[in-house]
Amino acid sequence: MNIELIKGDITKIEADAIVNAANSSLLGGGGVDGAIHRAGGKKILDECIEIRNRQGKCKTGEAVVTTGGNLPAKYVIHTVGPVWNGNEEKGSKLLANCYINSLKLAESLDVKIIAFPNISTGIYRFPKELAAKIAIDEVKDFTSEIIEKVIFVCFDDENEKIYRKLLEE
Ligand code: ADP
Repeated sequence: MNIELIKGDITKIEADAIVNAANSSLLGGGGVDGAIHRAGGKKILDECIEIRNRQGKCKTGEAVVTTGGNLPAKYVIHTVGPVWNGNEEKGSKLLANCYINSLKLAESLDVKIIAFPNISTGIYRFPKELAAKIAIDEVKDFTSEIIEKVIFVCFDDENEKIYRKLLEE
């Protein structure tokens, strides 16, 4: 899989799927979640509500899919990152699961291009350097016959610098 780094707004990205850093309620929130629901429109929330009615909340580390609504992307993969609580081992495993489960779900949907935000590094306060390392390691370890490109979309300068450095190593 090719890896690309883009600084900007994930709602503008032309990919088959973009990933949302959702919360377990799946009913929208702040940060990237709010931006995706605002730009993607009501169809995304309607499908999130359907999923909730079917399976209840989405557990941390797991992923579900909805339409991309009005977004350029066909699908939104909603994954729930861990809230940082200082437990590095447990948090790292859960964050890794977000990337793995999103990639597996993307494969099942025949997604060729997928874009990730920097999951858990906003409101959920996960240390950015550690989160970036986990994201890059998991994507590099994931071999796929289906997914051709993974785009890391960094919104803030600090994450962009961290990703650029790690990807150049
Ligand atoms: P979490 O609750 O998982 O921490 P946030 O949405 O608060 O989720 O933050 C996750 C990351 O998404 C942060 O690095 C934040 O800068 C970034 N972000 C916020 N808005 C956007 C956007 N429109 N596109 C891409 N990334 C965004």
